[in-house]
This record gives sequence, C-alpha cells and structure tokens, in this order.
Amino acid sequence: MSYLPIQQLLKTAQIGTDVTVKGWVRTKRESKNAVFIALNDGSTINNIQVVAEAGQLPEETLKLITTGACLSVTGQLVASQGAGQAIEVKISAVTIYGPADPDKYPLQPKRHSLEFLREIAHLRPRTNTFSAILRIRHALAFAVHKYFNDNGFFYLNTPIITASDAEGAGEMFRVTTLDATKPPLTEEGNVDYSQDFFGRETNLTVSGQLEGELGALALGKIYTFGPTFRAENSNTTRHLAEFWMIEPEVAFNDLEDNMNLAEDFVKTVIRYALQHCADDLAFLDNRLKEEEKTKKKEEQSELGLLEKLQFVISNEFVRLTYTDAVEILVNSKPAKKGQFQYEVSWGVDLQSEHERYLVEKHFKKPVILTNYPRAIKAFYMKLDEESSTTPGQTVRAMDVLFPGIGEIIGGSQREDDFDKLVARMHEVGIEPEALWWYLDTRRFGSAPHAGFGLGFERLVLFVTGMGNIRDVIPFPRAPKTAEF
Ligand code: ATP
Ligand code: MN
Repeated sequence: MSYLPIQQLLKTAQIGTDVTVKGWVRTKRESKNAVFIALNDGSTINNIQVVAEAGQLPEETLKLITTGACLSVTGQLVASQGAGQAIEVKISAVTIYGPADPDKYPLQPKRHSLEFLREIAHLRPRTNTFSAILRIRHALAFAVHKYFNDNGFFYLNTPIITASDAEGAGEMFRVTTLDATKPPLTEEGNVDYSQDFFGRETNLTVSGQLEGELGALALGKIYTFGPTFRAENSNTTRHLAEFWMIEPEVAFNDLEDNMNLAEDFVKTVIRYALQHCADDLAFLDNRLKEEEKTKKKEEQSELGLLEKLQFVISNEFVRLTYTDAVEILVNSKPAKKGQFQYEVSWGVDLQSEHERYLVEKHFKKPVILTNYPRAIKAFYMKLDEESSTTPGQTVRAMDVLFPGIGEIIGGSQREDDFDKLVARMHEVGIEPEALWWYLDTRRFGSAPHAGFGLGFERLVLFVTGMGNIRDVIPFPRAPKTAEF
C-alpha cells in the first residue's frame, strides 16, 4: 500500500479507502471504548488522528505508544466522530519503528520554553512551533530563488573561504591548517602564513559582495545566497555568527533602482509565504497572540502577525535621507526628554533605538534610509554628486529598516569611478594592491551598478514573528553556542 505524507493525505485521500500513515506520536488519549493517537510527520502542522478500539492492540504495543515514538499505521480512512478533525484512521495494523521512553524523552505534550528548546535544538524540530518555522524558512528560501529566476537573475556561488579581509563588514573567523600550538613563525616572530594551506592568511567570508560585483559586471544581474560568518561577540537577538545572506547585484542599476528592487523583492517573498504557508502562519499568529497576552498593555503590539505581514505587502515603504531622518530624531519627543541612550546628531551612526523610533513610532511603516555620511559607510559606496544637498559628504547607501527587527537590508550604488574608489581605499586604510582584482572591474569596462545584502534569518524572524534569531535557524551558531 502506498504511503502518503499527512499533508497530502488530508488534502486528497478518499473516505473509505485504506491508507498508511507514518509519523511521531504527539499525544495518546485513552477512553473507555477507544485509544486516540495524534500522529505528526512534519509535512504539515496538522496531525492525523488514528484510532484503535479498546482491547484491540496488545498491552505491550500500547505501552510503547507514547509521545515521541515513531509509528507506521495502516487502516481505513473514516469520517471522525469527534470534534477537532474531519477524518481519522481506523487502525488495522501498527508497526512501532522506534519507542521513546516517556521518563527520558524531553519533549512532552506541554508548553516548553524557547530557552529550554534551544538546549535541545536536536529535537526541537519535532515541536509545532519549530516545524512551522522550518517549513516557512524553506518556503522563503524557495521564494527567493523563484523571485530571482523569474526576474532574469543568475545564481552566483561566491567563495566561503576568502583571502580578502578588506571588506570591513565585521570580525572574521580564520581558516588554517597550521598547528595551533606551534605555528611556524617569520623572522619578525609573526605567524608565517606562507606555510599555510593557501599560502596566505584566509578567513570565512563576511559577504559575497565583492565577488558578486565581478559577476554583475559580466552577467548583468546576479544574486548570491549562501552562508556568511561574523565573529563579532555580539550576544543579541539579531546576530548570529553563521547566517545566510542574499546579495543581488545588478549592472546599470542606480540607488533608486536598488530601492525598487529591494522593496519589490521582500514584498514578493512575504506574499509567497502568506500564500503557501497559511496553516503554519495561522499557528504562529495564534502563538504570538497568546504571548502578547502575557505582556503589559503598552508593550503589546498593535498588529497581529498576519495583519503585520499584510500591512507590509500592501503599503509603500517610506524613503528618506539620513539627513532628514536625523532632523526628525533631533526634534523627536524622546530626544527632547533625553530618553535616547545615545545622542543623535548629523554624522553619528544611528543606533537601533533611533531606527526603531523612526519605524515603529514615527512612520509606523518600513523605512528605507538613504544617503548616509561617507564616514560611517563602506569604501565601495558611491559618493554623492555635487548636485546633492551634502556634496561629497554622503554616499549612495540604503538601509531598509523593519519594525521589530531594525536593519534587514543594507546596500548601495557602488563607486564605479576608478580614481574615486582608490582614493576612498586610501582614506580608510585599505591597500588597493590587495584588491587588484576588484579594481580591475573599474579599470576595464566599468559601469554603474548597485546591490544589497539581506540577512535571510532576519527575514525569517520577521515573517514568523519570533523574537530571537537563534530560533529561526535549525542549528544556531553564536558565541559559546555550537553544540548541535
Ligand atoms: P547590523 O548593523 O545589524 O549588525 P550590518 O550593518 O553589520 O548589520 P551588513 O554588513 O550591512 O550588516 O549586512 C547585510 C545584512 O546582513 C544586514 O542588513 C542584516 O540583515 C544581515 N546581518 C548582518 N550581520 C548579521 C548577523 N551577525 N547575523 C544575522 N544577520 C546579519
Ligand atoms: Mn548594514
């Protein structure tokens, strides 16, 4: 007999037919006349109820059917007598693949805290919350590839091991095969990387952008989607040491095109999730509502998860310059009452309290901030022309800020003028020689181009309504966290 995942079975199976279902026991309930078992196989948030008559199953078998045990059940699909499900399976045969000792199995049918579940990240995908998150994460990843494929982008795989430490995006993890206890030394006493595997110092990548630019200036429109590593010791709910970044890069795009792409892209993938993950999102929407009830009135969010997602896809993002944003912040109530922890003035890097004020209090919408001071942005961002209000002082950068998240996207139009780019490198202390291959794109057939980086987990965080980025990646990597 053919086996159907529960997701398909619930959609297509005919009452009266014989079916086989396989999955893990969520709950078992015994009444006078029958035993009710809720099975879940991870294909959907919904369980299938399988039912045996009292006395039908041998006592030894029944004893092994406990939460977490894995079963294969064959029987007739019938209309359910009970409330809560339309159909159920009348058991005719059961195979127990693997029992789960109820005294030892850590996942029991009750609410476990997210902190506890992080300690058993190897088992948490078996919970409703985490299986929902992982299915949504999958749908979003698929939507990302679909969006770019539908729009003529090519998927470019940029290296994970890189020799350029010049990007300045963050602290890096070193990649080496040298003996950690006795590395070879140069005459000056430094580690001699010429004897290392690659003959030079290498690290895990913090961004695929520089290589992405090489691709865009050959293929036109490219995107990367791969693991990215930052060794910052920031123990926040928004940072991972290993995360996945999506970086489109497009020849002939300017800052405006870049913003249009970013906005259309995030809205399209969120819409995809709403269309394809309705059950999982409804479950997480409910979960969030329950959680909100435990908060103080003034801390409760005005919108539910589904309302928030609908709101984001149906409203235009606010676009304003850094200069205008600073003006709003300087004149804001919290600034005047001294409620910001960090003071704001033109030139400072905005803190997340400032970003959140703009997004959550002032505009109540996603915001794209542009034209940041050059001093706080990366060397490859294009200098603003003389015609701007702050000539030469700002760059064509854009950050997309989301409610509850802060920065979800960072990008820019790139400096395509060789001389200006080299001057900027000298300014920030990057040896142009070290990036000779990058500079070649400006030497030969340079072109205007723009791109951005979207942290995939921050997107998943937003779409699932979760509060901690460690809960939206299966096996998080963070300071002191690499167990599973
Ligand atoms: P932040 O200021 O939030 O630390 P950033 O400005 O250092 O981020 P970028 O270098 O602009 O980040 O990277 C592009 C995107 O990658 C960010 O907008 C964010 O979505 C994501 N990102 C950056 N660092 C991390 C991290 N440590 N963990 C998860 N996502 C990250
Ligand atoms: Mn950024």
